[in-house]
Amino acid sequence: MPPKLIIVIPCYNEEEVLPITSKMFLDKINKLSSENKISDESKIMFVNDGSKDKTWEIIENLAKSDKHFIGISQSRNRGHQNAVLAGLMEAKNNCDITISIDCDGQDDINAMDKMVDAYKEGYEVVYGVRSKRDTDTLFKRFTAESFYKLLSKMGAEVVFNHADYRMISNRVLNEFAKFKEVNIFLRGMLPLVGFKSTTVEYERNERIAGESHYPLSKMLALAFDGITSLSTKPIKIIINFGLIVAAISFIGIIWAIVEALSGSTSTGWASTVCIICFIGGIQLVSIGIIGQYIGKIYMEVKHRPRYIISDKTYDELNDI
Ligand code: UDP
Ligand code: MG
Repeated sequence: MPPKLIIVIPCYNEEEVLPITSKMFLDKINKLSSENKISDESKIMFVNDGSKDKTWEIIENLAKSDKHFIGISQSRNRGHQNAVLAGLMEAKNNCDITISIDCDGQDDINAMDKMVDAYKEGYEVVYGVRSKRDTDTLFKRFTAESFYKLLSKMGAEVVFNHADYRMISNRVLNEFAKFKEVNIFLRGMLPLVGFKSTTVEYERNERIAGESHYPLSKMLALAFDGITSLSTKPIKIIINFGLIVAAISFIGIIWAIVEALSGSTSTGWASTVCIICFIGGIQLVSIGIIGQYIGKIYMEVKHRPRYIISDKTYDELNDI
C-alpha cells in the first residue's frame, strides 16, 4: 500500500494566490498517486489562519469541487507557526506522512517526489532546503541567511536555509505532539524530536501573486522568538559579560583607591557619568532579556490552547 499523504498548507489572506496554487497541488497529488507513489486517499489540507479576505470561501468551494481538497479554519489569526501546527495535529493519525508547504508557490512542489522517495528509503523527516536564493532581493537574502547563522550561534539547532517545507512521518508527529510548549518554532523543535532525517534541495521561486506577510520586523521577532524558545545561551552570554564587566570594575576600583591615596584625584565627573550610563545600559538590556524568558514562562504556565479550530470542511477526517 502506498503511503497516504496530507499536504498541510497555511493560508492567510491568500485569495489572489489560492486559485492558482491549489491547481498545482492537485496536479501533484494526482500525478503522485497515478505513479502509485502515494495513496489516492491523500489530501490537500488548507489551514485558514483567520484571513480577512475570501480565503476561507475559496477553500470551502475547493473542498466541494474535489475530494482531495479539505480545509480547517482557525478561529482567528494566530500566525504561520500555529497554523501549520493546527494542520499537522489534525492530520496526525489520519495519514502516513505529512508535507507542510506555503501556499504562495515559492517552494518548488516537485521536491515532494523526492520527499516521498526518501520516506520509502526509511527517512522519517525530510527537510526542504533552499539551494539558491537568486529570486530573493539581496536584502532578503542577507537578512534571511544572517537569521540562520544567528540562530545556530545562539544554540538553537536549525537546518541551514530550511523554512517550513518539510515531510514528517506520522510516527514523528506522534512524538512531536508530546512537546507541549505554546511558544512554537517548528524548524527548531523538529530536530529535537530526532529520528532518521535527510534534506532535499529545491529552488525557491518568486511569489506567484499577493505579497509577503513576513516583513523584516516579523522576521526579527521570529528570530528572537526562536532563540529564546530553544536556547538559554543569551542568559549565559549575559553572565559572562557581567563577569567581564565586574572584573574590569574591580581593577577600576583598585586604580581609583591608589589614585585617591596618592592624593592626585580630579573631580572625576565625566568618568563617573560614563560608568553609570554604561553599567545602567547593560543592566537594562540584561534585565530585558531575562524578562523575555520570564514572559515565556508566564505564557507556558497558562497552558492556553495552541490553536482553536472553528470550522472544517468535513466532520471526521478518518471517514473521508
Ligand atoms: N501565513 C499564515 N499566517 C500568518 C502569516 C502567514 O498562515 O499570520 C502563511 C502564508 O499564507 C503563507 C506562509 O504562511 O502560506 C508564508 O508566508 P509568506 O509567504 O507571507 O512569507 P515569506 O515566504 O515571504 O517569508
Ligand atoms: Mg512566501
